[in-house]
Amino acid sequence: MRRQSKNKPQALIIGGGASGLAAACLCASRGIPVTLLEKESRVGRKLLATGNGRCNIWNSGPPVYYGDGDFAKRVLSRCDVNQVKSFWESLGLVTYEESGGLVYPVTRQAAVVLDCLRLRLEASSRCEIITGAWVTGIRRNEGGFAVTAKDGAVYEAPLLLAAPGGPAAPKLGGSGSLLMPLIGLGHRLIPTRPALCPLVTDTQPVRGLQGLRMPARLCLKAGDQAVTATSGEALFTDYGISGLCAMQLARDAGEGLEKQMPVTLVMDFSPALGLAPQYMGRLNPDDFEARAPESRQRLQTMLEERERRLGRPYMYLGLLPRLMAERVQGLAIPEAAQCLTGLELFVTGIKGYDQAQAAAGGLDCADFDPATLASRLVPGLYVTGEALNVDGDCGGFNLLFAWATAILAARHIISSSQ
Ligand SMILES: Cc1cc2nc3c(=O)[nH]c(=O)nc-3n(C[C@H](O)[C@H](O)[C@H](O)COP(=O)(O)OP(=O)(O)OC[C@H]3O[C@@H](n4cnc5c(N)ncnc54)[C@H](O)[C@@H]3O)c2cc1C
Repeated sequence: MRRQSKNKPQALIIGGGASGLAAACLCASRGIPVTLLEKESRVGRKLLATGNGRCNIWNSGPPVYYGDGDFAKRVLSRCDVNQVKSFWESLGLVTYEESGGLVYPVTRQAAVVLDCLRLRLEASSRCEIITGAWVTGIRRNEGGFAVTAKDGAVYEAPLLLAAPGGPAAPKLGGSGSLLMPLIGLGHRLIPTRPALCPLVTDTQPVRGLQGLRMPARLCLKAGDQAVTATSGEALFTDYGISGLCAMQLARDAGEGLEKQMPVTLVMDFSPALGLAPQYMGRLNPDDFEARAPESRQRLQTMLEERERRLGRPYMYLGLLPRLMAERVQGLAIPEAAQCLTGLELFVTGIKGYDQAQAAAGGLDCADFDPATLASRLVPGLYVTGEALNVDGDCGGFNLLFAWATAILAARHIISSSQ
């Protein structure tokens, strides 16, 4: 998409992802001319993949953020879920909410979310979108900023909003390439690493389980200490454990492994059968309990079906580690189910950026004003979204942060340009 704006831009926006597009929409709709530079051949590629193509657009529950979680809370105290909702309503998007505060477009299509942003920008004469513009350098000059793209093109404007996201999901545009130019301007970086990605575990004990989905409570231990716990549907793969609940543990697993601690994953399947969890004192069970009756029924049916097909002595072969299978042979289903607790796997790694939904780390938030996202070091520079040292839990928190930071930065650009 390449459109000429009639006016010299007041702001350059680097990155045509969630926060860059939202900021461009707001600025353009208030008459502020902007030029948006996107390195890919089209904008919003990652957005299209969010929420499995449904786009979990925000979460209306209590904020769950890591990295500089306080900064995220300060941002959201200035632009809360209601203001984010109003922004989307002004673009004509209708949403609905699922349990756990998960909000989706009512059409259940991420494409509609992107269309709302794109159509607003296409209808505006105030926004020029330049795709294939991979920014490699940022310089300050008397007029504000000059940024250089890989093809040698130079773009200039008094203000600069950097919304380049993080290095997660490179096939969808994820890249840390703008971090170095921003560090060159004096900003500090908290090293990035994959977050929200599957866990690589020893697979010997769970061989034969690939493709099986089981409702479970998961607890991550680093050394002897329980670090984090989640619940949901765990997916057995040929390399380890996936599923959103496992992905939420990747951040802490990565940290433990970096510190060279033994990291283990305790999988507890007992709640699926209505049994008290043995290990999971620290859990918030709300989400799981809401789905427990259905999950319990599914697991019960699955166990009964297995017994019918394989016979009691073989019922757990290929379903559980052999040792556990030996323990449960001959037991009635409820008793056998108790033995499903405490499957413990060594975590040997986490999948890389390729399979991550977010990156931990990023630009140090201490260098930015949470009310405006303006740099405290470089006048006229704003940074929004995942490029900052904030990462959220699954469930819409990352996009919520992207929208909120974009709204606050755009408001400040608008007010300082009038
Ligand atoms: C598969 C997947 C599913 C997800 N699902 C959800 C979900 O349902 N809910 C949720 O809240 N979060 C979800 N996330 C996370 C969420 O998509 C991101 O946190 C969010 O998009 C970050 O927004 P952003 O604007 O900061 O960056 P991005 O949306 O990543 O946009 C950054 C843009 O900048 C461009 N760019 C980067 N560097 C340069 C450069 N040097 N020059 C020019 N352009 C550049 C990129 O190509 C990209 O288009 C998901 C992520 C993935 C990968």
